Amino acid sequence: MVTTHNLGFPRIGRNRELKFALEKYWKGEQTEHALLETADTLRQQHWQDQSQLDWIPAGDFSLYDHVLDTSFMLGNVPERVAVLAGSELDSYFRVARGRSPADKSACGCVHAGEMTKWFDTNYHYIVPEFSSETRFALNANRLLEQIRQAQAVHSQVKPVILGPVSYLWLGKSKDGSGKLELLEELLAVYAQLLNELKSAGIDWVQIDEPVLVMELPEPWKHALRQAYYQLQTTPVKLLLTTYFGQLQDNLQLACELPVAGLHLDAVSAHDEVAKVIDWLPAHKTLSLGIVNGRNIWKTDLTATLDWLEPVHDRLQDRLWLAPSCSLLHVPVDAASETKLDREIHSWLAFAVQKLHEVAILAKALNHGRESVAGMLRNNQAAIVSRWQSSRVHQLPVKARLQEVTNALGNRRSPYHQRAIVQRERFRLPLFPTTTIGSFPQTQRIRQTRRDFRAGQLAQADYRRAMQQEIEHCVREQEALGLDVLVHGEPERNDMVEYFGEHLDGFAFTEFGWVQSYGSRCVKPPVIFGDVKHAQPITTEWIQYAQSLTSKPMKGMLTGPVTMLNWSFVRDDQPRSETCLQLALAIRDEVLALEQAGIRMIQIDEAALREGLPLRKSQWNNYLDWAIRAFRIAANGVADQTQIHTHMCYSEFNDIIEAIARMDADVITIETSRSDMELLDAFDRFQYPNEIGPGVYDIHSPNIPAVDSIVQLLGKAARRIPPERLWVNPDCGLKTRTWEEVKPALSNMIAASRQLADQFAAQAS
Ligand code: GLN
Ligand code: ZN
Repeated sequence: MVTTHNLGFPRIGRNRELKFALEKYWKGEQTEHALLETADTLRQQHWQDQSQLDWIPAGDFSLYDHVLDTSFMLGNVPERVAVLAGSELDSYFRVARGRSPADKSACGCVHAGEMTKWFDTNYHYIVPEFSSETRFALNANRLLEQIRQAQAVHSQVKPVILGPVSYLWLGKSKDGSGKLELLEELLAVYAQLLNELKSAGIDWVQIDEPVLVMELPEPWKHALRQAYYQLQTTPVKLLLTTYFGQLQDNLQLACELPVAGLHLDAVSAHDEVAKVIDWLPAHKTLSLGIVNGRNIWKTDLTATLDWLEPVHDRLQDRLWLAPSCSLLHVPVDAASETKLDREIHSWLAFAVQKLHEVAILAKALNHGRESVAGMLRNNQAAIVSRWQSSRVHQLPVKARLQEVTNALGNRRSPYHQRAIVQRERFRLPLFPTTTIGSFPQTQRIRQTRRDFRAGQLAQADYRRAMQQEIEHCVREQEALGLDVLVHGEPERNDMVEYFGEHLDGFAFTEFGWVQSYGSRCVKPPVIFGDVKHAQPITTEWIQYAQSLTSKPMKGMLTGPVTMLNWSFVRDDQPRSETCLQLALAIRDEVLALEQAGIRMIQIDEAALREGLPLRKSQWNNYLDWAIRAFRIAANGVADQTQIHTHMCYSEFNDIIEAIARMDADVITIETSRSDMELLDAFDRFQYPNEIGPGVYDIHSPNIPAVDSIVQLLGKAARRIPPERLWVNPDCGLKTRTWEEVKPALSNMIAASRQLADQFAAQAS
């Protein structure tokens, strides 16, 4: 008999109940008791949703983040928080977000723990902090409580914990001391934890070591050996769990560690299944993640059974089945999507449906395919309908793709020649000032969009209202004295969704929310079919904005790689191919803007860095197709047309060469929070084109002082020749208010002029 289980369930709730409860609690509108009650109810619901499985997980639920939970369980609470008065929950939220509802004064707060991306997902965790002073002390109450609750509703409960080596790997040493020096003491606490779990009636423990899919330095491999040799003396069975990729050179290690079972992501490491079976000692359980926990498509159950049956014949009772990874990365229940096109809906599986797939596969293995014949037939019908749908496959798109050559991605002349004609055309001052695109999204703007969507505002009235917003934005920018203007993006709810809604091949869910961090969720669009540009999307708005001013108006687009990385992407063709389709669609829009007389076009690639594979050895492959896609989108324009791009996140010293290959005339990047550290890369690498390092942090409501901007710019001017330096904020201004934006930009412009004067004085 095969056994079924789950690695983790989404926490946020079908209707984002957790989000709303948290936010109410943070605002002081709800008691701690009420918050915890919502959490209890959600957990009960989630276990109910998983009740068809043999084993249900416990401890995967979190009020904010499971890595932060782990830090608290291990007693690793930053000193700055530990010394403050308050409950454990107060401390927890102080680390999570810098404050708890108990902190009444506006800034009785401490600085929050750093947040970063969980492997290559869009989930963000709170980075554990370490120093040579770090001491651990077990506090497993939260986990034990959840286990008790789970045991009350299901007989087989498997706690989920983050393994000690991954925990250390994901953290940051604050004093430069080696993290692995803490391993010994950490293992003692883990041993204590596993003993406590045994006393709580636990048999199997899922211990996650996703670092096994990374390129590990030798000391870290050694740490894994040390950890599991030491923990093997504890009285529970460990299911060593890996996901998100292949084991590659860690395969043998993963198979040999002395644990009772191994979980392999059989979706992304499908090719390794046979090898793992060969290497795995005969007494060990093998859990295969056969349903993709990262996308929203139905699994082809028949095809899966075709390869799984022989595996089952070989492993028999040693085979367990699960989704590939925690279902944290998919929405809860496709049944909530009542408004979605029925055909597209029939292709989808969210968390609840994915677990059902696991159960069907197990039943087919245990009792023969006949036992689930009807379900297999339905599944097959959905799979075939998706393969064959004319909504998915558009011949003209495929034909156009065939004709793409690299030449399509080349500008007519190299940058230094384009720069001459562009300088002639725009006649911008030294250190030209601009913004990243969006301006404050006021209540009024949001309400107008909502009314229009709800059909309460006629098309013409909506257009007039938006034109007024654009006009207001342009007038403000002129009054401030910016050199290159934008229309402000009032018509956009989201930079990907807006374009997706205007392209063929995209669908949108109503409740397809996925946790990004804490209470923040995103609702990624679904790219289900060939992507096609039907008609111009932005020209009317941008042309209108340009008609209001004699200054250059930047047209604002989202790039193909960002569209891809922030969507649920079809799995029936390589991502690179979908990206190329997106590139051609954006190219059409770029050319439409140029045709409409727009002379500067910005193509945002906010999420380009996010798509980097986990293993560095695979970076070049990704960068090759991603940069090619950008070039094809951007580079069809005349020399005189200036292409801008923008990227968030400051860490891309390591991909600066690739970014230069995009060959945008101007790139604006986020740098202010790193104090222009990012620009260190320019000591090593001469970035050839123009660049606007962000001079102030738009995530903060603070107004930057002129002096501080001058200082940052001064730093930048030491690395970038002055004639290639732009001045702009870190990112778009849509989350700020006009009261914040006006003085901030005014100071930014003053700083630019001050620096220009300095340079003029030096030159004369
Ligand atoms: N143009 C977008 C804006 O200003 C860019 C957003 C982003 O980089 N995330 O809002
Ligand atoms: Zn940005």
